[in-house]
Amino acid sequence: MKLERPRGTRDFLPEEMKKRREMEKILRRIAESYGYGEIATPTFEHVELFTLKSGESIVEEMYVFKDKSGRELALRPELTAPVMRLYVNSCEVMPKPLRFYYFANCFRYERPQKGRYREFWQFGVELIGSDSHLADAEVIMLAYEMLKALKVEFKLEIGHVGIMRDVLKGIENSDRIMRLIDKNQIDELEKFMNDCKVDEKVKDRVFRLIELKGDASILEKVNFAEKEIERLKRIAEILDAAKVEYEFDLGIVRGLDYYTGVVFECYAPNLGAQKQICGGGSYELASLFGGQKTPATGFAIGFDRVYEVCNVDGEKIRTVFVVAFEDTYLDALKIAKMLRNSGFVAVIDVMERNLKKQLSYANDIKAEFAVLVGKNELEEGKVSVKDLKSGQQIDVPIKELTNFLSSRTV
Ligand code: ATP
Ligand code: MG
Repeated sequence: MKLERPRGTRDFLPEEMKKRREMEKILRRIAESYGYGEIATPTFEHVELFTLKSGESIVEEMYVFKDKSGRELALRPELTAPVMRLYVNSCEVMPKPLRFYYFANCFRYERPQKGRYREFWQFGVELIGSDSHLADAEVIMLAYEMLKALKVEFKLEIGHVGIMRDVLKGIENSDRIMRLIDKNQIDELEKFMNDCKVDEKVKDRVFRLIELKGDASILEKVNFAEKEIERLKRIAEILDAAKVEYEFDLGIVRGLDYYTGVVFECYAPNLGAQKQICGGGSYELASLFGGQKTPATGFAIGFDRVYEVCNVDGEKIRTVFVVAFEDTYLDALKIAKMLRNSGFVAVIDVMERNLKKQLSYANDIKAEFAVLVGKNELEEGKVSVKDLKSGQQIDVPIKELTNFLSSRTV
């Protein structure tokens, strides 16, 4: 019987991993350039951490299990709650604001499809301790800069959950209504609001808000929620000055229940159904986890979806294949080591193959050069270098080998 990997999980081969690592490197560099420091939290947590307020849909999707002592644990479906738990556990007394970032795998029991996996990766940040619009703006700019650096084509949309909450104030089942809005299930939404006998005026406002998309001029069309609208305007000023391109969308409410203020999402139009590649906003979770009430704002980039539309390539390191024979193997090892120390990838035979087969393998792994370590050349302090593209071959003194290879253009 051939064993298969679990449904919704993936294996990654070197080529993919190389691109993923390159993407990761870019994201880390930008996060760190804004002063964010990396943190890590456990892969599993007490289930309450997520059931307290992460939203119904995520809880349904969770991998929950009991350990041998009967504790109820969950594989993390996201990292904002764990980061805030960490904050309450050990960072409350640190100078504010705190800037954290993470890159980690998350687990959700969803129906697997393109762009939707049971294990996937998020790259995210949390800016903790400020409730200023400046914090919202910084986090939005950071997300924008990251996706730009990955050369992704995307749209940034910004809203404010406070506005919809204002409309739905005092209405029963408002959580469910928000969720239907988030999932864009408009027919369901209408039916549900009718079933719940939601006031016509409120219904009207809900549908009007969902329609409000566009530049800052749409903000003029809202004649309530003044504070929230004012905040969006101030953020707009900053983003405009920073040349961030965006649209407002007052229908953005986000699936996770803990958002309280400004929210934003990024979409890659080329991705089809699962096109949301980043989601974020401001929230308050610290008090729920037993800490002081603390404002925070952050986002998570869906790394696997971005991978599909990202145009960065792994750094190309020049590969040299060292052709070695039984009587020269120890010298060939030294030459390989010298090449590695000079920044080349040096691959050496471990199959005890003959010359022809070693060269053929060197081509298979796309080496640029083969360095043939033969007994006769060695005695003269030389090796033979074969350019695997042109087929040209010349003898080069070992002392000059790295310079020689470096001077060859790719
Ligand atoms: P969706 O509506 O697509 O399910 P979500 O609202 O559940 O997304 P968040 O919880 O905000 O997503 O997670 C942040 C990002 O993580 C999403 O924008 C998306 O890019 C990515 N993501 C979420 N779930 C998955 C998954 N099952 N597989 C791959 N990426 C995912
Ligand atoms: Mg989801």
